[in-house]
Amino acid sequence: MNYQEIIHKQKAFFNTNATKDISFRVKELKRLKNILKKNEELLYKAIYSDFKKSKYETYTTELGIIYHEIDVASANIKKWSKRKSVSTGLANLPGRSYIIPEPFGTILVMGAWNYPYQLSFAPAIAAIAAGCTVILKPSEIPSHSSAIMAKIINENFNPDFFKVIEGGVEETTELLKNKFDKIFFTGSTHVGRIVYQAAAKHLTPVTLELGGKSPAIITKDVTIDMTAKRLVWAKFLNTGQTCIAPDYVMVESAIHDEFLSAIKKHIESADYKIENQNYTQIINQKNFERLQGFIEIDKVFFGGDCDAENRIISPTVMKDISFSDKVMQEEIFGPILPVLSFDNIDNAIADIKTLSKPLSCYIFTKNKTIKNKILNEISFGGGAVNDAVMHFMEENLPFGGVGNSGIGNYHGKAGFETFSHYKSILQKTFWIELNLKYSPYTSSKLKWLKRLIE
Ligand code: NAD
Repeated sequence: MNYQEIIHKQKAFFNTNATKDISFRVKELKRLKNILKKNEELLYKAIYSDFKKSKYETYTTELGIIYHEIDVASANIKKWSKRKSVSTGLANLPGRSYIIPEPFGTILVMGAWNYPYQLSFAPAIAAIAAGCTVILKPSEIPSHSSAIMAKIINENFNPDFFKVIEGGVEETTELLKNKFDKIFFTGSTHVGRIVYQAAAKHLTPVTLELGGKSPAIITKDVTIDMTAKRLVWAKFLNTGQTCIAPDYVMVESAIHDEFLSAIKKHIESADYKIENQNYTQIINQKNFERLQGFIEIDKVFFGGDCDAENRIISPTVMKDISFSDKVMQEEIFGPILPVLSFDNIDNAIADIKTLSKPLSCYIFTKNKTIKNKILNEISFGGGAVNDAVMHFMEENLPFGGVGNSGIGNYHGKAGFETFSHYKSILQKTFWIELNLKYSPYTSSKLKWLKRLIE
């Protein structure tokens, strides 16, 4: 496939100004929603073929979020696109100042495999809402999901406006040689660096949605049962293959044993049986083996069952873990929950800060001082107090990482802003001109200027 030609045609289409029309953007977003709805059964089937992701989780964590992003964007594009007036300084009076959001242009969106639909379409929706054209490169790993996205988009959209290009490392490397107006990447920190380097050659701006080890910190005063229930759901959703899943837990020693019992109870009462058709598979053999390598039998508190043939690992809780254990050396990205304990919150914070800035952090506490201390002292992308993962659903909370967990953010209005350049304009009239800035530079003019400025 000639990528250069596809990009060239998208740029030409962008230059017709068709996408500047807000009704065009709304129409195309509605088209996307209709097409996805019409093909819902095919989308469910494809993702199930890839890693047995259930219809329930596919709707709640992929399609439902996509539909919501489309609805929010369609309802607000007009408002978000409005030029915004700001005040003008004395030096430019009489005059007006305003800021105009303008679409960046032609965007490359690269998706990750763990939520193949949502992580591909949500950024594409934001880009379309902002008035851009989109080339979408889904992850090649869930191959059926990638193929169905390519089919339904490429059959229903003008390729000069919205096109899916499938491919793995080779195709992506080739694609990245081209100049885009912005690249939006979701994936690992390692590949994020590759994308950033490729973008730098063309001075292309990037948004990088990356990963990391997101902690959950639990103090002794919490409602233990509800904390465990929320954490179990957040951790084992999509079998732990979630960028914002609580990677590890740090629990205050006083409630360590009781907390572990509550975690066990909630895993047992959930539908996570190894033979359950709704329990998502590990995406591939490579990840299955990588995860298996984290399980040290003598540290398993619960679970640890591995079914290699079906690529299933049961919800696994590990205890007596320290920061030097293997499971603490990289992002887990699977159904293994290491539990560490602490007695002193300052030491716990210091330990967490030895790792890179995480994508999320979850604080379970009724203690306001400790909550504020953690919020103040640990840098992380975003998170929740007394819950986990659910902050992702809030379209008014910009979603993204910091440091090694990413650059930039999206969702709702933040997504629109990610794909917009904010053009600043000063507008003057012709009816008056103060002479203070012009030569000759006299001392009396300087005196007046100083009065105005100071
Ligand atoms: P990945 O980095 O392996 O792949 C992401 C994309 O990069 C895919 O489209 C893939 O085809 C492409 N790619 C892979 N290797 C490449 C190379 N050498 N050159 C160019 N392109 C290449 O990531 P993944 O395994 O799909 O996803 C897992 C990671 O993504 C985890 O670290 C997770 O935390 C992170 N993640 C982050 C978010 C977020 O929103 N911040 C969401 C999901 C996943």
